[in-house]
Formats: sequence, structure tokens, C-alpha cells
Amino acid sequence: MAKRVLVVEDNELNLKLFCDLLRAHQFEVEPVRDGREAVTRARDFDPQLVVMDIQMPHVTGLEIIQHMKLDTRLRHIPIMAVTAYAGRDDEERIRTAGANAYVSKPISLVRFMEEVRALMPAESAAPPAPAPVAAVEAPTEGTEEAPQPKGPGLLL
Ligand code: MN
Repeated sequence: MAKRVLVVEDNELNLKLFCDLLRAHQFEVEPVRDGREAVTRARDFDPQLVVMDIQMPHVTGLEIIQHMKLDTRLRHIPIMAVTAYAGRDDEERIRTAGANAYVSKPISLVRFMEEVRALMPAESAAPPAPAPVAAVEAPTEGTEEAPQPKGPGLLL
């Protein structure tokens, strides 16, 4: 099953480069050109990794990272910052904001893919099968007397 990568990048050439590279390595990619859409698209796409440009109009990658790390549904997703910033201060700020990795432009494609793989969950950790859905949906009738499906921990 293809792993999903959300790619947030305002530069069309870089966006195409990252997406082509990831697709060539069997990732499913979702390109986002406007950083203002990044959080919503991340919620919809549910990626295993976010590749985040930092310098963008309207909203910086730094702000998006901070926003994602405050969102309980998104904060666990690893973020790989990609930026032309060279200074150590900038790298420090980006990492402090919550980026898990930092790759500076111009991009080394080998290093890019190494970082992507390093941030991905292990291949053996297959995504959980959606089997429990059927079990949860099963008791639709006569559920009045049935206990709420909250899990035993909440009843103790
Ligand atoms: Mn940019």
C-alpha cells in the first residue's frame, strides 16, 4: 500500500521535482501550492509525511508547522522542511517549531529520499486494517440496552 506524502511548495518547478521523485519511489503524493490550504489538505489526505517549503507567500512553512503541531490530529505526522535558508539560526527555528528533518536547497535528490525514508514508519508496520469498523457498526438495532461502545477502560 502506497504511503502518502503531502508536498507543500509554492515553486512550481520544485513541486514537480519533489512529486515526480516521490512517485518514482512508489509514494502517493498530494501537491499543495498554496500554504493557506496546507492544514485542511493534510486533514483530508491523512499523509504519513509532510514535505514543507518554508519560504512561501501568504503563510510561511514555519507558521504551518506550528499550526500542525497544535492540531491533535496532525501533530504526530513527521514534517520534513525544505528551504533555501542556510543559517544555523533558521535551521534551529524550524526544528524548534516541530520539523523532524531539514533539507536545504538546492536539493540533493539522494539526501531528499534518504530523509523521506528515515521519517517513514518501518515497512513492517503495515497500516492497520479497517476491520474494526464492521464490528463497531454491527449493533445498530436494539442498542438501547447495549453498553456504549466506549471500551472497557472508560467504564472502570
Ligand atoms: Mn518557496
